[in-house]
Amino acid sequence: MTSHAFALPLIRRPMRRVLLFVAMHSEAEPIARALSLRGSPSLRHGTVGDAEIQLLTPTLDAVTGVDSIGPVHAAAALASMLGFLTHASGVGRPDLVVNLGTAGGFQAQGLGIADLVLARDTMFHDARVPLPGYEAVARAHTRLSLDEAQLASLATRLNARVGLASTGSSLDATTDELAQFAAHQTLAKDMELAALAVVCRAHDLPLIALKGITDLVDHHEPTHEAFLRNLKHTSDRLAAVAAPFLEFVTH
Ligand code: SAH
Repeated sequence: MTSHAFALPLIRRPMRRVLLFVAMHSEAEPIARALSLRGSPSLRHGTVGDAEIQLLTPTLDAVTGVDSIGPVHAAAALASMLGFLTHASGVGRPDLVVNLGTAGGFQAQGLGIADLVLARDTMFHDARVPLPGYEAVARAHTRLSLDEAQLASLATRLNARVGLASTGSSLDATTDELAQFAAHQTLAKDMELAALAVVCRAHDLPLIALKGITDLVDHHEPTHEAFLRNLKHTSDRLAAVAAPFLEFVTH
C-alpha cells in the first residue's frame, strides 16, 4: 500500500459548524428527512445536537437535468460554497466538511451491498502524471481527519469498515484500475471524495467521509444496473446512521 502524500487537520475540538456534502439529490433527500433539515434542494440547514449543519448538493445540470456528479463539480461546488459561507452568508466558515454518499465496493475485501465504509484516506486512481512532484499533486493521496482511535470507535458504533475510498471521473473501471484497487486494498470507489480533499487542503479544513455501497466493482453484474437497483436502499442506510455519525464527530 502506498503511503499518503498529504494529510488534513485532525478533529481536536468541538466541531460546531458542519458543511455536509452529498453529490446526488436522491442521496441527499433521505438524509435531509432523517436530520429534519430545511431549505432549498441545493442548500439545506438544521441542527444535530449542538452542531449547525449545512447540507450542500450541487445543483442539477441546467441542460440535462441530471445530478452534477463527479470530481470537477464537487470541487467547484465546495469551493464556491466555502467562499459564500465564510464571506457573504452570516453563517461563517465551517469547522468541518463531511461527505456522505454512495460508492462501489469490493467483494474481494469482504464488502456487500449497503455496507458502510469509513474513509481513512482518499486518492485519484485515474491520475497518471509521471513527473516528479506533479504525480503526487495529481493523485492527491490524502489522509482524512479521523485519527485511528476515532475510526475504530466509529467503525464499531456504525458497523462500518475502515479504509481507502478512491475517486475517479468514471462509474466503470478499467483493467489497470482494477489491479490498482487490489494493490491498494481499496474498499470503496466514488467520484467526489478526493476532489473534496483537495479543496479542504487548500482551506486547511478537516474532512471526513462515510460511504454506502451500491454496487460491487469486482462483480460480473454491470455497475450501473446494481447502482440503480440499490441506490434507494443504500441511501436509506446512510440516512439512518447520519445522526449518530454527526453526533460522534461534533461532540
Ligand atoms: N446513472 C446514475 C449516475 C450515478 S453516478 C444516475 O444518474 O442515477 C454514481 C454516483 O454514485 C457518484 O456520485 C459516485 O460518487 C457514486 N458511485 C456509486 N457507485 C460507484 C462506482 N462503482 N464508481 C464510482 N462512483 C460510484
